[in-house]
Amino acid sequence: MYAVLFDIDGTLLHTGGAGQLAFADAFESEFGVGQLSGEVAFAGRSDRAIAYELMGVHDVPATETNWQRFRHAYLRRLPDALKLRRGRVLPGVLELLDALDLLEHPVVGLLTGNLEQGAACKLAHYGLGHRFGFGGFGDSSHDRCDIAAAALREAERFAAGRAAPGNGRAIAGAMVIGDTVHDIACARSIQAYAVAVPTGNTPADQLAAANPDLLLDDLTDPRPVLERVRAAMQATGNGPLP
Ligand SMILES: [Mg+2]
Repeated sequence: MYAVLFDIDGTLLHTGGAGQLAFADAFESEFGVGQLSGEVAFAGRSDRAIAYELMGVHDVPATETNWQRFRHAYLRRLPDALKLRRGRVLPGVLELLDALDLLEHPVVGLLTGNLEQGAACKLAHYGLGHRFGFGGFGDSSHDRCDIAAAALREAERFAAGRAAPGNGRAIAGAMVIGDTVHDIACARSIQAYAVAVPTGNTPADQLAAANPDLLLDDLTDPRPVLERVRAAMQATGNGPLP
């Protein structure tokens, strides 16, 4: 089987800054931080890495206890933040997911720096909650490459659960679709095909400089992605069953 792994923020959807709002509210309620430093980058990073860096910048002891305090406050605040901010599913996403569903063998999952519950909350808010069978998340790791490895392991588990008797097909390849250079780098770390879209905050020329395998304007035209998925499945003997 072939795994297609989607980043969330800037790739599937924009939350209109709801994630950052929930971060800011959590830092205020838990640690009395009135305004978050603008020096800390959010895009393409794990929630854990962002939170730990923010703790450092704001002189909050970067301890597991404080991480858990932050985590609970952030997840409690996120649903309201999503309602307050006007976000959207990005162009072509629904059509691409529909088209992938029609192919026989790819398994479609997440590769995101979001906390698993945060990812579920965002996706449910935008009606995408049922679209992804598994994922790698930012709960326990600072490093997106570790999350990529975890996503691949989860893809293996999911594929094994779906394989029909006598058709135990392991994951023979993967594609990562994301909007930052970090998505491209973590795709490389698991030998996955890297698809980049400048629909987040990273301009196309910066993505191009990181040498993705495929750079699209957005996901409006699903054909280049579908062609690659079909070709990869054929090449690995995971084409449609006769
Ligand atoms: Mg992203």
